[in-house]
Amino acid sequence: MICPLTVLRPLMPTDSPALLGGVPVRPEGPPVWPRRTPETDAVLLALRESGDWGRYHGPHTGALIASLSQDLQRDHVQLCASGTAAVELALRGLSVGPGDEVILSAYDFKANFTNVVLLGATPVLVDCRSDDAQLDVSAVEAACTAKTKAIIASHLQGGLVDMLALREIADRRGIALLEDVCQSPGAVIAGRPAGAWGDVATLSFGGSKLVTAGRGGAVLTSRPEIAQRIKLYHQRGNEAYPLSEMQAALLLPQWKQLKHDHATRTKAVLEISSQLAREQQTSPPLAPLCRSHLTTDSAPTQNAPAFYKLAFWYDNAALEGLPRDRFCRAMRAEGIAIDPGFAGLHLIHARSRFRAGGPLAHATQACSRIVMLHHPLLLEAETAARDFQSALDKITRHARMLIDTALPSDTTQD
Ligand SMILES: *Cc1c(COP(=O)(O)O)cnc(C)c1O
Repeated sequence: MICPLTVLRPLMPTDSPALLGGVPVRPEGPPVWPRRTPETDAVLLALRESGDWGRYHGPHTGALIASLSQDLQRDHVQLCASGTAAVELALRGLSVGPGDEVILSAYDFKANFTNVVLLGATPVLVDCRSDDAQLDVSAVEAACTAKTKAIIASHLQGGLVDMLALREIADRRGIALLEDVCQSPGAVIAGRPAGAWGDVATLSFGGSKLVTAGRGGAVLTSRPEIAQRIKLYHQRGNEAYPLSEMQAALLLPQWKQLKHDHATRTKAVLEISSQLAREQQTSPPLAPLCRSHLTTDSAPTQNAPAFYKLAFWYDNAALEGLPRDRFCRAMRAEGIAIDPGFAGLHLIHARSRFRAGGPLAHATQACSRIVMLHHPLLLEAETAARDFQSALDKITRHARMLIDTALPSDTTQD
């Protein structure tokens, strides 16, 4: 007996996009994250043997605090439950409250906006740079008023904010700087660690992040009065946003591995970028955002990015108008974890909830055109560029078919 499905379904050439029933470039899908390593295995076993998995604090939380403090050159480290909690604690540490304004990029992590609103302050949105979508420091000054209490600078999607210029503005105006390092632990800006530039800095150990315990975060500062306020708010007779001994134990070996992993990821990024440059001539569908940090003659600036995401400008004109959501979906079906970038904070919130600190045209552009590759593939240095390019080539060849085929609605992921 013949299965009716076999009869109805047209025979797909092996080259067909996986989204339309073809064989995926990576049938196994994207690499599993977090990775299982001998070090994390050893930690889990040791936790079982010692019973430390039930402890609130212990040698591992102590060692993690010491490592973060040393590597990010900050005197005080408060471990906490998430990056979102870390940003809230940081804002509280800076005494942000009703009547205050906090400047941030309109192209930023959603919860940063929400945290400002939570504290009763007004988010003031400024534009991002047109080339790499990082906070446009040159737009910050015009957005400052007597009410400006803090500036949030997030290094995003493989890019770095110009902290040299931003620190100068903050110092001259006496405004506090919150450096969000959730996507860029281990990055270096002008010779200093990312996180060492802000009056206060935040880290995330969320499940998808470069160093993860499923959940977790940290807030760091070298200013005792900020540290004291953070501690007071965190401690309410009990820890309000705890990170456990078990989480710390799992984070330590990953933190130690970070430098080595950065080197592997950066190599893969260079390979993907140079392959794109080789393959694409006139109007490429994808162009990396952050080329400036990848030049090999970076010695004078001493910048080293961290790639939690690798962001690209997507140009649908190069693919016969293939919409961005459909493109990402087709890439994901091939086993390449790529998603649209952030939604613009100025586009998803009512005008009454924020003040626009200037034109936001570049942020609008970034929201509609960026796609970002999730980092785990970048640790497969040998295959990353090849698989990425194969998937892209296949989608390029079948762009028209991908446009014309009716599919259940394209949903974007967060
Ligand atoms: C992930 C992230 C956060 C929040 O971290 P969670 O641990 O998920 O709460 C904050 N800022 C940025 C830029 C992030 O990428």
